[in-house]
Amino acid sequence: MSNHFPVNRELFDDVMVPNYSPSAVIPVRGLGSRVWDQQDREFIDFAGGIAVNCLGHCHPALVGALTEQANKIWHLSNVMTNEPALRLAKKLTDSTFADKVYFANSGAEANEGALKLARRWALENFGAEKSQIIAFKQGFHGRTFFTVTVGGQAAYSDGFGPKPGDIVHAEYNNLESVKALISDKTCAVVMEPLQGEGGIISPTDEFAKGVRELCNQHNALLVFDEVQTGVGRLGELYAYMGLGVTPDILTTAKALGGGFPIGAMITTTDIAKHLKVGTHGSTYGGNPLACAVAEAAFDTVNTPEVLNGVKAKAKLYVAGLNAINAKYNVFSEIRGKGLLIGAVLTDAYQGRAKEFLNAAMDEGVMTLVAGANIIRFAPSLVIPDEDIAEGLARFEKAVAKLAK
Ligand SMILES: *Cc1c(COP(=O)(O)O)cnc(C)c1O
Repeated sequence: MSNHFPVNRELFDDVMVPNYSPSAVIPVRGLGSRVWDQQDREFIDFAGGIAVNCLGHCHPALVGALTEQANKIWHLSNVMTNEPALRLAKKLTDSTFADKVYFANSGAEANEGALKLARRWALENFGAEKSQIIAFKQGFHGRTFFTVTVGGQAAYSDGFGPKPGDIVHAEYNNLESVKALISDKTCAVVMEPLQGEGGIISPTDEFAKGVRELCNQHNALLVFDEVQTGVGRLGELYAYMGLGVTPDILTTAKALGGGFPIGAMITTTDIAKHLKVGTHGSTYGGNPLACAVAEAAFDTVNTPEVLNGVKAKAKLYVAGLNAINAKYNVFSEIRGKGLLIGAVLTDAYQGRAKEFLNAAMDEGVMTLVAGANIIRFAPSLVIPDEDIAEGLARFEKAVAKLAK
């Protein structure tokens, strides 16, 4: 086979399953918070590969960990354990409420493990009747059939035949709606401690604490999906730390590997014991390459400098976006926490978030959306302040083009 064919966006339509609709831009390299495409056009990265590249592109600590491990051992499967997985698990448990770790390869798989564990825990402790899972409308937990059904958008789970059962959805930030559903037959309440895909919605203190209390009253597990909020994104190692509400099971992925695929579910010894030998598993879970990179990312992020930096950089974004809005009046609200920020379009611009994203791309800055009305920013946690300023200047040009 020769490689003499054009590798461009048209090739995508020829050879890829059409479930994505990627940008025309094909990035080929990155450094820090800058990215270059095939034509060597430069972009500032405010998207972070959807809240994944927590240390930007080609961070020396991650490149070092990956290349060092690449010259040692790549894969073993879980027939054997390995040093990077053990070291990462030790660090995750030392730094959180959890005692035990299960490694997966993605957020959805970490959640799949959490949901299966919650069901088994309930079944073995209380019997088969206790199987109800309460999740939230607009919630997002991944695209396996179990996780997409737990997710709060039927549009994503419809059209695939019979769904996993006994899953109901309450309203986020509405404790009464949880109260109306929860009972002693509830095995778990699954929530994001800030809804990401659903629109960058922070829980109120009262809601988060109230859900914890309801779980306690009904012997239900509280599962926090921290796939997007975890590993420093909101300015704490995990969002639960800032909320002062401790879950029973927590899932983490996206930023965990800083761009290398990995996910994890963490929990207490007492709950973990229900996933005994043979009950669950993954060929790649805990892969040495993934764990070596994740360990380096974890060590780098879990420092006061980086975590305090997130809070300081968040202020730059909010101030910059407010200044843009003072001129163009396109946003009704700038919301979120840490470096997970949503700029909500006013009524006059309803449904046009993707147009803002495309215009920003044309000006040389990569952003994200969260639904049709919110432009989302999830940059590197160590993005240089100059890149924030330059990226916001480019973003302002895009806004100026679209503003009436
Ligand atoms: C992205 C995301 C997931 C899914 O993660 P994948 O790695 O795409 O499977 C699950 N939960 C939340 C909160 C997410 O943001």
